[in-house]
Amino acid sequence: MPLFDPDTIRPALAANFIGGKAVVGSGHSFMVTRPSDGGLLGELRAADTQQLADTVENAALAQKASGWGTMEPRGRMRLLRRWADLIEADAATLAPLEAAGSSRTLPEILAWDLPYTAECIRFFAEFADKHGGEIGATTPDKLGFTLTQPYGVVGAIAPWNLPLVMAAWKLGPALAAGNAVVLKPSELTPFSVVRLAELAVAAGIPAGVFNVVQGGGADIGDALVRHEAVGKVSFTGSTRTGRAIMAACAQTGPKPSTLELGGKSPQLVFADADIPKASALVARAITLNSGQVCVAGSRLLVQDKVRDEVVERLTTAFESHRIGSTWDEGTTMGPIISEGQLAQIDGIVQRARANGAEAVTGGARATSPQAGSYYQPTLLANAAADSEAVQGEIFGPVLTVQSFADEEEAFALANGTRYGLAAGVHTNDLSRAMRAIRTLDAGTVWVNRYGRSDDFILPTGGFRQSGVGKDLGREAYLASCKVKTALIQI
Ligand code: NAD
Repeated sequence: MPLFDPDTIRPALAANFIGGKAVVGSGHSFMVTRPSDGGLLGELRAADTQQLADTVENAALAQKASGWGTMEPRGRMRLLRRWADLIEADAATLAPLEAAGSSRTLPEILAWDLPYTAECIRFFAEFADKHGGEIGATTPDKLGFTLTQPYGVVGAIAPWNLPLVMAAWKLGPALAAGNAVVLKPSELTPFSVVRLAELAVAAGIPAGVFNVVQGGGADIGDALVRHEAVGKVSFTGSTRTGRAIMAACAQTGPKPSTLELGGKSPQLVFADADIPKASALVARAITLNSGQVCVAGSRLLVQDKVRDEVVERLTTAFESHRIGSTWDEGTTMGPIISEGQLAQIDGIVQRARANGAEAVTGGARATSPQAGSYYQPTLLANAAADSEAVQGEIFGPVLTVQSFADEEEAFALANGTRYGLAAGVHTNDLSRAMRAIRTLDAGTVWVNRYGRSDDFILPTGGFRQSGVGKDLGREAYLASCKVKTALIQI
């Protein structure tokens, strides 16, 4: 039973949002397809570099002229909160638009993505008047304090895997701190954030404070990063692109950048864990959004003695998924975002198999009622520890299995890739859990759970090749501000 008819979702051609209104880009046109059935979602025109430059300059002017950065912080807070309310109230428009164009199913978007997006903006709205700075170095004859001030324009660049949520991670702190934002979404998921921008204006956020430009990474994304009026860059995407962005920031600034990059996160299952519960968590952590999640738990590290039981449970869980479109009522696993991404996933799996790995389950494209891009949840055993399947980010529903004899070996395997985004530890031994938290070189360590909750106060970000800086939390807010030091001799 379809939950909506995707042919009724026809995003407007005017899909750049500049200076408070939707405008047609001046650059090349491109088609956006629906990953669920390969149908055409819409055609739009990208911005060209001149339009991008005009947008950034207009955003800088709007940020100053509207008083967005200098108004009473609680005024900003009220406008952001109103915007969050409008986002939630717009579910009937926003949710099918997001579902038609992405890998997220309509029920997931209604239950999680949309409320989470709104809540994230509310969380940062509340920061607006609570972090003006600190007082220090103060004696009877002097007063020292810090002052947080906006950069002016923040350039935000987002990936396609959770389009609204990733945008909210960037927009919340940057806008709450008084910046204007120019956001470039992924070429694969350009439309839903335009609706966010329309709602921002409807909420009373001044025109020009939140802008969306469309286009490719190498041209429009790069030009955004390099524009001299962009004071800070907030990026989420692949490690390769993160490097290019940091280099561009160095060449044109230096200017600060927050980089949330790829991962290859391990899930450690010890024999003393609650095995049914741990297996269910491991299965969910690699099939959620068909594995297209930065923190996907993509490497299972399991203690020898429980390996077979865990593998059996995972196989059952993987094979019970109903793979289908984002608008089918019973779908438990949606599509891969594009044919290109699917080919990359399958390429890694087939090369691993050719080199001796075994697909315990899955290992191929999935069939479904629609002609979209689907991949079977796949469990790969016996892939070599130094192979691309174990070392590289696959960004699909593919879990490698390695076993370990003891804690030391488990921690060594867990830390044995270039990434350091997240890790899961399943054990009933509290001391072991604490040792894992200390030893695992990852930005987040989950114990007996996997995945964030709605606690926006805890930041997220990676170590090593998984990134620099944090999204969410106090850290993301402060990273959206220049911190000025003042010392007054009295
Ligand atoms: P990507 O790096 O290909 O693209 C991300 C964005 O960067 C897109 O908007 C793209 O157009 C733009 N871009 C590409 N080249 C650019 C350049 N030279 N200059 C400026 N912008 C450029 O990533 P993707 O395929 O869209 O997303 C998947 C990746 O994102 C995965 O590696 C995943 O792990 C990562 N990700 C990380 C997190 C996190 O919090 N760490 C969250 C979600 C996704």
